[in-house]
Formats: sequence, C-alpha cells, structure tokens
Amino acid sequence: MTRALITGITGQDGFYLSEHLLGLGYDVYGLIRGQANPKRPLLERTLPDVHIVDGDLLDQASLMNIIQKVKPDEVYNLAAISFVMLSWNQPELTGEITGLGALRVLEAIRLSASASPSRSKSASGIKFYQASSSEMFGKVRETPQNEKTPFHPRSPYGVAKAYAHYITMNYRESYNIFACSGILFNHESPRRGPEFVTRKITQGATRIKLGLQKELVMGDLEPRRDWGYAGDYVRAMHLMLQQDAPDDYVVGTGETHQIKEFAQLAFARLGLDYREYVRTDAQFLRPAEVDLLIADPSKAREKLGWKREVSFQGLVDMMVDADLAAEAKMQAAAV
Ligand code: GDP
Repeated sequence: MTRALITGITGQDGFYLSEHLLGLGYDVYGLIRGQANPKRPLLERTLPDVHIVDGDLLDQASLMNIIQKVKPDEVYNLAAISFVMLSWNQPELTGEITGLGALRVLEAIRLSASASPSRSKSASGIKFYQASSSEMFGKVRETPQNEKTPFHPRSPYGVAKAYAHYITMNYRESYNIFACSGILFNHESPRRGPEFVTRKITQGATRIKLGLQKELVMGDLEPRRDWGYAGDYVRAMHLMLQQDAPDDYVVGTGETHQIKEFAQLAFARLGLDYREYVRTDAQFLRPAEVDLLIADPSKAREKLGWKREVSFQGLVDMMVDADLAAEAKMQAAAV
C-alpha cells in the first residue's frame, strides 16, 4: 500500500488530497501541530481513516522522527501561513513556516536516506511535493504565466513561497530527491477559509439573502484571479509524483475574472444585485496588490493529462449553494 504524509492536513487542500488518496487506496498520514489543536476533532470526524501524527514545521527533530516512523513513499507539503493579508502582520513567522518549513521537510527526507540504506537508490526513495503558488508571479512579468515566467512576489507570503520553490529545485538538483513544485493558481471550494475573498463573498451574500447581514465590506474589487476548484487541483499534485522524472508545473484554468465578477455571479445566484450590498473600505486594501493572474496550464495538460472539471460559474454556484444549505441547517438547529 502506498503511504503518503501530508502537512497542512487540516486545510482545504489537505482535506481534498486526503480524500483523493484514500480513494486511490493510499495509507494517509497527516501532520498536526500543537497541543489540543482545535481542528483535530473535525479531522477525526470527517476523515477517520487518516492517521494523525504530531509534529511542527518549526521543529526539525519532530519532522525527522515522523519521516523515520511513518516511512512515507510520498510527502505533500501543504502546510503554510496561507493568507496573504496576514503575512504583512506576521512576516517573520510567514518566512519561518511557509519558507523554511519546506526546507525542514526536505532536510528530514534527505537525512532519512542515510538512516535507511534500503532507500539509497536516490538520495531517498521518498517523493516530495511542494505547494508553490501563483502569488510568486505577483507583479506579473508576462501574461499568461507559465513555468518559465520570472517571479516578482508582492507580499511576505509570496516571497516565502518563492524561497520554498527554489529550495525544492535546489534539493532536487543537489541531492537527487524526487521533488516537484506545483505552481497552483487560486483554488477554492465550500471548504475555503472565510478570510479568502471567494468564501467571504459567498458567505456574505448568503447571509444577506437570509436577512442576517445588511452589507458586505470588502477591499479592492478590480484585481483579477484565475480561480479553479480545489478538488480538481489535488489530482494534479498526485499526478506530478507519478511521472518518470520530477518537474515543476503551473496548474490553473487559463481564465481570469475580476473580484467583482465573482461577486456579481454569487449575488445573482441568490437573485440579488451585488452593487446594492457591497461596500469597499480601506481596511481591506493591501500594501501591495497582485493585479492580474492568469495561468498557462499547457504543460500540466500535455504532460500530466490534467484538466479541470469544474467551470468558473460551476465553482461560484457550488460555493453559494453549500453556504446556503449550511446556513439553513444552522437556523433549523437554532429553533
Ligand atoms: P490571494 O490571491 O491569495 O490573495 O487570495 P484572496 O482570496 O485573499 O484575495 C484575492 C483578491 O481579492 C486580492 O486581490 C484581494 O486584494 C482582493 N480582495 C478584495 N476585497 C477583499 C476582501 O475583503 N478579502 C480578501 N481576502 N480579499 C479581498
């Protein structure tokens, strides 16, 4: 049975990837940080087949112990401080976790090779996936963005992700580790954290529809993003590790939409006009903005045979419908 270790198991992607790998017959281990982690009960309830291991991306020894104990065939490093806005408030922690965290996982993999000679055919028999991000393109140098587009990150988050991306390449080249980076463009779902713009819109629109909220206060509505469905994107992560050679891939839809288009479709799904409810406020503006992201996913399509299943409209509808159902359930439970 193939064994996978996932860091960031309690996040949106950790959930979808676990489901996908369990469906393929994998034995899945998930790294959980901290004592009495509030997300642990939810993980145990929703994914009872995942084995939970305790460790921290800030703690090198904990990662080495886990790699030696679990002996994974594949490691997916999804753990990060992933909210761009927060990275300006906690830039150092973002660098430690989102940037150096990847290095520590790679070090644990590298050092495990000397500890187990049977794995010595490359530096280690363990394959590694790094969750790279389109935020690395930042102030984009070309449009659309592909694997060769230079980076120009615009936030401490983007800078930390660029470090993690390059250290992944470097460990591949230095130690012959089967290490891949997926440069994933924004990917969303009903499990997306409510701090991200898509979920903030779908939750807000739903609550307005139900009379629980009067308006939605947001930041800049002009930027453009290439949004896909997270459930589609985890398939690409897995495919990267099944190739003959390690490589980096851009994963996105090749379509771009303004934030206000997302808002327009989400409110329209509920029979509302977003312009009557959305207000912008400076508190949500960022010190530096990423104005335009659009992927050129041709390499992933040609080499991995990957394509998305859920369209932009399908994604908006799925998220609005899920929030409406969740809100209705909460209200029914309250009476
Ligand atoms: P990001 O692309 O990883 O930063 O994902 P987000 O979902 O956090 O933000 C996407 C875009 O929406 C960025 O350009 C934000 O500036 C913009 N945006 C506008 N209003 C808001 C808001 O109220 N919350 C968030 N999170 N983003 C907003």
